[in-house]
Amino acid sequence: MKEDFYDILGVSKSASAAEIKKAYRKMALKYHPDKNPDDKEAEEKFKKAAEAYEVLGNEDKRAKYDQFGHQAFEGGGFGGGGMNMDDIFSQFGDIFGGAFGGGGFSGFGGGGRRVVKGSNLRIRVKLSLEDIANGVEKKIKVKRKVQADGVSYRTCSTCNGQGQVTRVTNTILGRMQTATTCPTCGGAGQSIDKKPSDADAQGLVVKEETVSVKIPAGVVDGMQLKVTGKGNAAPGNGIAGDLLVAIQEEEHPTLKREGDNLHYDLYVSLPDAVLGTSTEIDTVTGKVRIKIEPGVQSGKILRLRGKGIPSVNGYGKGDLLVHVNVWTPKTLNKKQKEFFESMREDEHFQPKPESGDKSFFEKVKDMFS
Ligand SMILES: [Zn+2]
Repeated sequence: MKEDFYDILGVSKSASAAEIKKAYRKMALKYHPDKNPDDKEAEEKFKKAAEAYEVLGNEDKRAKYDQFGHQAFEGGGFGGGGMNMDDIFSQFGDIFGGAFGGGGFSGFGGGGRRVVKGSNLRIRVKLSLEDIANGVEKKIKVKRKVQADGVSYRTCSTCNGQGQVTRVTNTILGRMQTATTCPTCGGAGQSIDKKPSDADAQGLVVKEETVSVKIPAGVVDGMQLKVTGKGNAAPGNGIAGDLLVAIQEEEHPTLKREGDNLHYDLYVSLPDAVLGTSTEIDTVTGKVRIKIEPGVQSGKILRLRGKGIPSVNGYGKGDLLVHVNVWTPKTLNKKQKEFFESMREDEHFQPKPESGDKSFFEKVKDMFS
């Protein structure tokens, strides 16, 4: 999918919250299923608009969307996307006010039976920096409620399987038929007929299942990925909830992450700094040998382009910044001391910063640019 949420709503990236709300309101009214019965295209547009508004209508989600891009939200990352009709209709209370809120629409496909959704499950997954840099597929053991073997359902007699009981009310907009969730079956349209003894009141049992979660490269600590349908099952022909996977980044022993860039502190001995050397450093794809030029200054930053973390939206990679620290010995033996004493007055050992050498502050500035 190439469309982004701004395109879907037909607003610019700098649109205000009010403009976004207005654009969504317009689209929702235009493509509303009650106005476009049996029009699959309108239904699709209606859903897409709702998904876009779910994210752009929320300040926090919009900021994340702008930062991480559309791809990160596809498949329901960050809790965006993958909305069902109930989610969309509950969103309306906010947009259209009370008149349409609370089940004022009849929903899709006639009948108006609500789809009951199982509850979401939340799980935390710890990832090494290497996993984050390369992307990883994790097999996670999840205890989720599933429909028990041998459970059977019958049509709810209160609502005749509709899941809703309807009522006609007078509102400022005229007579409106409002539907409320059936109090007997909770909207499922079904109630339990037979169930095995180990199942709960909804005919569900807890089972351990291994769920495979594909984690894209570049995820950030605290990010939440959604695995649709791997939460708790719902009774009857309801749909399962989602499994929400929160990302936790493990600290790396030598590499420090800052956005998509990585930092590595390299210590070189005084002779190595003077004479030059080559040394191995850690990267997220294994050790890499780098060259240290003779006369390297402490505080120099070597930038290894593209050796950082890939951006989660799939565009580009960060760098690995190697910070050179020249290690000065704290104690010397007699011979060493004599050598350095003899060099104290040597013209060659006097600091002579070149005009091209950047100050500490300039280096810091470069690092963030
Ligand atoms: Zn019922």
